Amino acid sequence: MDSIERLTALFEKFPGIGPRQAQRFVQYLLRSSPALRRELLNAIQSLTRAVIQCPECMRYHSGKTKICAICSNPERDSQYLAVVASDADLLALEKSGTYKGRYFVLGGTISLASEKTDGLRIKQLLDSMPSRVKSGLKEIILAFPANPEGDATAVRIREECRDLRNPDIKVTMLGRGLSTGSELEYADPETIKSALESRR
Ligand SMILES: [Zn+2]
Repeated sequence: MDSIERLTALFEKFPGIGPRQAQRFVQYLLRSSPALRRELLNAIQSLTRAVIQCPECMRYHSGKTKICAICSNPERDSQYLAVVASDADLLALEKSGTYKGRYFVLGGTISLASEKTDGLRIKQLLDSMPSRVKSGLKEIILAFPANPEGDATAVRIREECRDLRNPDIKVTMLGRGLSTGSELEYADPETIKSALESRR
């Protein structure tokens, strides 16, 4: 495999990127300046060097401590746990400014084609429950995208939480202030606020 093929094959592994787009990325890099290529290289290297995964919410962050700034904030309300699909969705909820509880990033949604849950942190979520209950957890808010994959994931997590057999914990879902198909990460703060308020 030559250098062009090798890089194309790497880009093809990115979510949503097909062979043609991967080739376009490589062509773009071939035309771009050495400075840009160097910057890209440095940025990728610093992902390994400076980014860590928070052991509580599982999001990636570049803070100084292992536990991220949100999870280590004593002002956050441990009664609420928002389970989101991605880091981007967590940040969207955070930006809306209305949610003051805690988070867990599941790492994706269930694919309807395969019904596979590979890569989803369902076990980690369930394993973290006893200590969350001890810290006063009362409500799990499933904040998944308003699409079939998000709904399937919510159904699955709801079932898993039922197996915890803890009647004191309520499991709710975001209200449909979010229009169907809309991604949480692209929703505006007002929409997220009303989806949170109308959760059920
Ligand atoms: Zn965290």
